[in-house]
Amino acid sequence: MPIAHHILQLRDSLPPGVSLLAISKYQPIEAIQEAYAAGQRMFGENHIIEMATKAAALPTDIEWHFTGHVQTNKIKYMASFVHMIHAVDSFRLLREINKHAAKHNRIIDCLLQIHIAQEETKYGLTIEECKTLLADEPWRELGHIRIAGLMAMGSHTDNMEQVRAEFRQIKQLFNELKSAYFADSPSFCHISEGMTDDYPIAIEEGSTIIRIGSMIFGERPY
Ligand SMILES: *Cc1c(COP(=O)(O)O)cnc(C)c1O
Repeated sequence: MPIAHHILQLRDSLPPGVSLLAISKYQPIEAIQEAYAAGQRMFGENHIIEMATKAAALPTDIEWHFTGHVQTNKIKYMASFVHMIHAVDSFRLLREINKHAAKHNRIIDCLLQIHIAQEETKYGLTIEECKTLLADEPWRELGHIRIAGLMAMGSHTDNMEQVRAEFRQIKQLFNELKSAYFADSPSFCHISEGMTDDYPIAIEEGSTIIRIGSMIFGERPY
C-alpha cells in the first residue's frame, strides 16, 4: 500500500493550518481510490475533462481542486462541482467562472496565480499585474466567485535559496493584499505553493495548501 503509506506519512508531518492536496493528474481511478481509503479527500487535477470524468466515478465527498490552466470553453464541465480553481490569472477568467457558477447557484473559490519563477511562461500574473487587477477591476461585483488567496510555483532549480526567496515574496504580497483588500474577508486565507521537490520550504514560508503528486503516487504514467 505505498500510496496510503505516503499519504499518512505526509499528513503526519504537516503543521496545523497546512492542507495536503493530492495531485492525481494522469493517475488511474484505482490510485485515487487507494488514497481515498487512506482518508485523503482533497484531490487536484490539471485537465478539466479528466477531472469531471473522475469526479463522476468517485465518491461525492471528494473536494476537487483544479490546478491546471483554465480553458474558458471548458469551465462549464466543472462549474457544478469544482471546489477551488487555483490558477486564475485574469479578470476575464474570473468573470467567466462567475458566469458559470451563477448558473449552478454556487460560489467558487479562486486563487490568483502569481508568476514568480525564473522560467518563462505565459501563465500567471506578475506581482504588479495582480495589484493592478485588484485596484482597477470590478471584481467585488462578481457574486459567484470568491478570491481565496494566491497560488504560485517555485523555480525548477536545485537552488533552494532562490525558491525560498520566491515563496517569501508571495507571502509578502499576500499580506499586502490582505490588508489592502481583504481585511474583512476571512476567506482570503490561502497560499497554494509547494510540490514534491520544494514543499518543506513552502511550508516554512507560509504555504497553506501543498500540492503533491509524485511523492504520493510515484512517477506519472504519461
Ligand atoms: C503536477 C503538478 C503538481 C505536483 O507536482 P509533483 O512534483 O509531482 O508533486 C503540483 N502543482 C501543479 C500545478 C502541477 O501541475
